[in-house]
Parts: sequence; structure tokens; C-alpha cells
Amino acid sequence: MSEFNGKKVLITGGASGIGKTMGRLALSRQAELVIWDIDQVKINATIAEFSTKGNVSAYCVDVSSPEQVKIFADKVKKEIGQIDILINNAGIVRGKFFNEHNHDDITKTMFVNTLAPMYITLEFLPEMIHRKSGHICNIASLAGLISNPKMSVYAASKWAVIGWSDSVRLEMKQLNTNIHVTTVNPYYINTGMFDGVKSRIPLLKTEKVAHAIIRAIEKDKTFLSMPWSMRFIRLCQGLFGVRGFDAIVGNMVGVYKTMEHFSGHNK
Ligand code: NAD
Repeated sequence: MSEFNGKKVLITGGASGIGKTMGRLALSRQAELVIWDIDQVKINATIAEFSTKGNVSAYCVDVSSPEQVKIFADKVKKEIGQIDILINNAGIVRGKFFNEHNHDDITKTMFVNTLAPMYITLEFLPEMIHRKSGHICNIASLAGLISNPKMSVYAASKWAVIGWSDSVRLEMKQLNTNIHVTTVNPYYINTGMFDGVKSRIPLLKTEKVAHAIIRAIEKDKTFLSMPWSMRFIRLCQGLFGVRGFDAIVGNMVGVYKTMEHFSGHNK
């Protein structure tokens, strides 16, 4: 069990969406909350909202910058102390066909979604290993298990996160560190990040996802896929093969058309 009570919890992208809701839930469990986000306006609003709920500090950090990650990790260690639970949650999506991307779209997506969780984890993991306690939670996506049009780079970034995150879990076990790693793969959530998406499978609710993630951390779960039925994705891919999976999940269930009217936060 990874308890939140009295623990220092760092959440990246913690000023909106599921990151913000997870922060509120961590505070309600008497954790000390540290938020990293790139959006100062949302940080200010979150701090104002959370000020009566517990001990919270926030830093305006661009996690896609390795330099900023280093500077702010040092600052957190000095001002707050060692982090017990790290939730790598910040993420972005461009939502267009691959041929419409430029280099900056690709680099930014890979930096925020994939490299930042690795860099940030490297900052806090050694001390966790030293103390033989800690929890790393990485927010990936079902897009890391299912290919999808208008999501190629986002999918690539999340496939990479899943492979990295679960390998670190195995390493921590092999090294007898008592550090737990949870990899989270949700379907679309109604946070606004994927506004415009049309899906026959209902969008997940922010509150429900955040609750499930916090519970998964408390229970030291290795994988959390949402909705529940999505834990069978790999089995279905093996059983149906690529063509069968494309026909059933992609075309019959309609997943491959979900991004057609994507607008994201820019709607
Ligand atoms: P959101 O857009 O509501 O929140 C993301 C937060 O990350 C924002 O506060 C934003 O300011 C911050 N952020 C973005 N770039 C940053 C940067 N460079 N440095 C620091 N902070 C940065 O999104 P959300 O829906 O809450 O998504 C949270 C996570 O869940 C993401 O990793 C996302 O990929 C993943 N996810 C989301 C969905 C969905 O449908 N919304 C589905 C599956 C997985």
C-alpha cells in the first residue's frame, strides 16, 4: 500500500484536468502537494482554490525543457524536500495527420509526453532508491496500445511511455527497492484536451479517472486501463490479428473515426 497521508506528492500538469483533480484528492488524504505546470494563470487559480484544503506549493515549469526540469527539481528538493509520490501527468496532443506535422510538433510532443517523465523521474528516483520507498505513476493512454488516425505522434509518445514505465517497474522489483510503478492507460476523458472527439464509447469523467488513479497508487497497481473492458486490448489484438482488430475496434466500434472533428483546447 502506498499511503498519501503525510507524503510529498509532485504532480506535473497539476493545474488542470485530471492532474488538478488528483491534486485535490491527494490533499484530501493529507498529502503535501507540489504542482508543476506551464500555465501560470491556471496555477494561480488552482492555488487560490486549494489554499484552504491543505499544504500546496506550485512552480511554473516547462517540463519539455531539460534545463528547467533540473533547476526546479533542485528547487523542490531544497524548499520542500524529497518527493514520495511522483505523478508524471503533463501531456499534449496535436491531433492531425502525420504529414501535417512539422518538426516542432513532433519534438514538443515527444519531449512533454515521453522525455519529460524520464528526466523528472531521474531527478527523484535515486533518492527513493536510497530510502527504499517511493511511488512513480506515469499517465500514458490507450493511444499507447491502439493505433489511431490523427494521433500518430501522440500514440508514439504514449507507446514509449508504457514500455519505459513498465520496464522501470521490473527494474525496481529486480533491485529490491520497494519502489512501485503504476502505468495508467485511460480512454478519452472529458477534460477538454480532446474536445471535438466523437465516440460511441462514452468519454470518461475527470473525477472518476482521477479517483481510480489515486486508488491504483494506494493499491500499488502495476497497470490501470479505463474503462475496465480495455484491459483486454492486447488479448483482442492477439486473437483477431491486425485486420480483424481494424474491422471490429477500428471500424465497427468506430475508434478510427473518433478524431475526425478534433479541436482540442483550441475549439
Ligand atoms: P489537460 O490539458 O487538461 O491538462 C494537462 C496539463 O498539462 C495542463 O495544465 C497544461 O498546462 C500542462 N502542461 C502542458 N504542457 C506542459 C509543459 N510543457 N510543462 C508543464 N505542464 C504542461 O489534460 P488532461 O486530459 O488532464 O491530461 C492529463 C494526462 O492524461 C496527459 O498526459 C494526457 O496525455 C493523458 N490522457 C488524457 C486523455 C484525455 O482524453 N484527456 C486520455 C488519455 C490520457
